[in-house]
Amino acid sequence: MALLDEALSGSHQALARVISLVEDGDPEGQALLRQLHPRTGAAYTVGITGPPGVGKSTLVDALTRTLRSQGTTVAVVAVDPTSPFTGGALLGDRIRMQDHAADPGVFIRSMATRGSLGGLAPTTSDVVRVLDAAGFQIILIETVGTGQAEVDVVGAADTVAIVLMPGFGDTVQTMKAGIMEIGEIFVVNKADQGDADRTLIEVKMMLALAPRTGGWHPPVLTSIATSGRGVADLLEAIARHREWQERDGRLAARRRDRRRREILRAAERRLQARILEAAAHSRRLETLTDEVHAGRLDPAAAAEELLREL
Ligand code: GDP
Repeated sequence: MALLDEALSGSHQALARVISLVEDGDPEGQALLRQLHPRTGAAYTVGITGPPGVGKSTLVDALTRTLRSQGTTVAVVAVDPTSPFTGGALLGDRIRMQDHAADPGVFIRSMATRGSLGGLAPTTSDVVRVLDAAGFQIILIETVGTGQAEVDVVGAADTVAIVLMPGFGDTVQTMKAGIMEIGEIFVVNKADQGDADRTLIEVKMMLALAPRTGGWHPPVLTSIATSGRGVADLLEAIARHREWQERDGRLAARRRDRRRREILRAAERRLQARILEAAAHSRRLETLTDEVHAGRLDPAAAAEELLREL
């Protein structure tokens, strides 16, 4: 377990290796996750999501820079749904890392979604746990939001920020209504381009229409990620949301809920693997397939039979 010790005591190389083992579903990765679990829980995670091109990566970079100037350590998990190959993601990491290469207080990792329906890769929460155990104080989870994806971000983050840009008010309306419900902070980036104030008002109006429970009123901010303007305000909004959640046990409840979902998801994955494994060696599956093919049995009834058999 020298690898884990190295990773937890600051070696980025060892950390990257641990994450790869976890991502690959390697049994060693699972063992490492078990070992490091007691060390998790100190990091604060922030989900940054929104349509492609609004400036999420630029904003995450600006956030990282400002947090570092305040002495806060930062890990970034960039989930890339467009690239099914980690090659692309790794290239992205190298470009992103250029500015922070010499800084042990920053760790950046891209991951592909590997065809999962949600915007988050199935192992994102595991990777976040590794980074949490490694001691990073803030973990930024960046992902493209186009539907179910955003809901997944909430599952993995303590605060969710939705990034938009001028002219994207209409887009928000056409997006799944869900996006307005999960956003806890809204940022209209590229305030130097187009009519940001109008988009700001549109977002505020939509928020006023969306019923909210719980008492948090999402702030709507503007930013220029390329110049860093508005980044301090965003960090301040994140801190306020954090304090608000910590005050009355909301954060603990949210995190507990996340663990519950993680257990269910892990159980689901294992069950699925077991079924597929058993089915691969099942003669019954073949005879059932013949029955369904011949029209004597419908697939659902065949599935019931198969499960009974397995
Ligand atoms: P993402 O797809 O949401 O991650 O967007 P990126 O961060 O890759 O940004 C897309 C493009 O917009 C890049 O060329 C950025 O340099 C540019 N960009 C990001 N933020 C701003 C901004 O506030 N103002 C302007 N003018 N351009 C920006």
